[in-house]
Order: sequence, then structure tokens, then C-alpha cells
Amino acid sequence: MALFDCKVDARSGHARALTYTTAHGDFHTPMFMPVGTHATVKGITPDQLTALGAQVVLANTYHLAMRPGAEVVAEAGGVHAFMNYHGPMLTDSGGFQVFSLADTVKLSADGVEFRSIYDGSRVFWTPEKNMAIQQLIGADIAMQLDQCAPYPAERDFVAQAVVRSHKWARRCLAAHTKPDQTLFGIVQGGMHLDLRLESVRGLLDIERESQAVGGRRFGGFGIGGYSVGESHEVMFETLGQVARALPDDRPRYLMGVGNPTTLVRAVGEGVDMFDCVLPTRTARMGTAFSSTGRMNMRNAKFARDFTPLDHACTCYTCTHFTRAYLRHLVKQDEMLGGILLSLHNLHYLLDLMRRAREAVLEGAYDAFLAAWMASPAARDY
Ligand SMILES: [Zn+2]
Repeated sequence: MALFDCKVDARSGHARALTYTTAHGDFHTPMFMPVGTHATVKGITPDQLTALGAQVVLANTYHLAMRPGAEVVAEAGGVHAFMNYHGPMLTDSGGFQVFSLADTVKLSADGVEFRSIYDGSRVFWTPEKNMAIQQLIGADIAMQLDQCAPYPAERDFVAQAVVRSHKWARRCLAAHTKPDQTLFGIVQGGMHLDLRLESVRGLLDIERESQAVGGRRFGGFGIGGYSVGESHEVMFETLGQVARALPDDRPRYLMGVGNPTTLVRAVGEGVDMFDCVLPTRTARMGTAFSSTGRMNMRNAKFARDFTPLDHACTCYTCTHFTRAYLRHLVKQDEMLGGILLSLHNLHYLLDLMRRAREAVLEGAYDAFLAAWMASPAARDY
């Protein structure tokens, strides 16, 4: 397949199984992407990521642009060489961090000004500057600069964020030139279905205009602005219609979502890709996903429990260590505790999406979803 080709391998209801080609290999959906904020998935080596079955690793443009700087990453030969991970990679635009981390964000017609969380220095990003940074970092997939509205937010505010994100999408697509990197547009619009659908139409208009003058199209689409504090039910009121309004021939990526049950349900609505810090962040705090629901490994009930973390799991942690030992590591704040729980939690989500893909390939996604929702793992959703 040619670079950035997307093949639909199978469908089951609204769920899809895709194969997507990048310069660093193919990936297969449905798929979860581990997050390597500072060009490292905390505590996990690149070889371990590959062994776990990670297909795409995400890095954060905001953090890398501040430390060590995109130019340093470029001088190393790009992010793959810098971190010695040679599978497909994706960078977010950093827009989410700009709007969620910074106290003082100033929007202008041209771009966004903010203070670095590292040293307080003033930074000004235009869409063109953001594209230049992501091209220097050099992941296989870049994301457009966008404005994610908080929740709850006034409808007018959300509508303005959609308009601004469209203007930035047009400029990002025009400024993006790296031949071995593709650009995803991002749908915004909060919980308002009409604004979401307007956002989809806007992105499709932008790529039609671009292609009419020999320019590029989007390689796929992010769905941003969900999982920002609303309930699961509120999200699922609109998510499926939004996902299916996007072109059928390219990936749909629900950004920043890592709850296992949300993933299983969203695949059933036609979503293909996910990322989230949840599996590794909660692991470092001592929490494990399991086939019987979430487990807090600090709990005293595990002190003399010499059984595996999760009997149903085949990961390194579950096949080599006991609950009592893991509790001991976590209680003592030993590095290995966070590492072993991260390995397990990542395995859990990667394996879940692998099984979801198998179910789509067998044309049995409805049964897979129903079995999941009836399982104890879904109970702490
Ligand atoms: Zn495990």
C-alpha cells in the first residue's frame, strides 16, 4: 500500500477494522496509543512497547517544544531516532495543553500567545509555527492546532472555538508540507450536535478547497473536546453521529479517552483510534485495570494475597508477581511498582483493542460489546 493509504479490512455494525500505512510501518485498528508525553512512556522502554503490541506511540508537542526544543529533536534525526522507537508515531498539536495548562492565554486573529509552564516565558504560536514545530519533531501523524472548549461552556463560546479551529485547520493544511508526515483535522463543537456536524462540514470544505488547488487532504480526523468532564451518557448522545459524519475512508480518532468501557462502546459507534495517559498515570498511583474491575493495590486486603494481579491476564506482571509484592512496591513508592502496573495496564488496553479487532474481523462486534457490558470489568465505568 502507498503511504497514508487506509484500507477497510472488515466492518461489523458501525465498528470498523482498518489498516493504515505510514513510513514506519502499518497499524491496524481499533487501536489504543500509549502516551509518551516527553518522548518517553514513563518507565517503559521502546522494546517493551513493541513487545506489548503498541502500534502507534504519541508524543506531546507542547512539552517537546519547550524541553528540549523541537530543533534539538530535529538535530537528533527526529523523534523516532531521538527516543529510539521506530514504529509509527503521532504528535498532538499542543493546543489542548495551551488552553488547559496556561493561566494567561491571549487569542488574536493570527494565533495564540501563552506562558510556558516551564519558565514563564511568553510563547506565540500561529498555525504555521505549530506545523513547523510538528514537522521538526517528525512524527508520522501531526494534528492541526485547535481550540478545545471546556465543559460546561456557553454555546456561543463553543461556536466561536469551532470557527477559530476551522480557520486554523485551513492554515495548518496549507502550511503542512512534510512528505512522510500526514495531518489530521480535528472536530470540535462540545456537546452540541449541530456545532459538531458544522465542524465536520467545515473540515471537508477546507480539504476540498485545498485539493482544488493541488493541495493536500487530511489523513484522518481527530474528535476532540470529549471526556472533558461530561458524563459518559452525555458523550454518547452525540459521539456516534459525529464519528459517522466523518469520511468512511479514513481513521477517526477519539482524543484523550482511555476508559476501557468507553473504548469498547466507542468502537461500536465507528471510532478507530484512542490515546490517554490513564493507564500509565493511574498505574503510578497504584491502580490496576482488571477483568473484575479496577483494583487499588494500596489496599490492605492484598497484604498477604500471593495470587496474580489478574488471573485472566497473560502480561509479564501477572505471570511473574503476586498482589502482595505489588502492594508492597506501591506502598514503598518503589519505581518498580509503577513500572509493573504500567506494563499491566498498557497490556490490558492494547489486548482489549486487539480482541475488539478480532471481533470486527469475525463480524461479531455486537456480541463482543454485549459480553463486555455484562462482564464485571465494565462495572466501575
Ligand atoms: Zn497483567
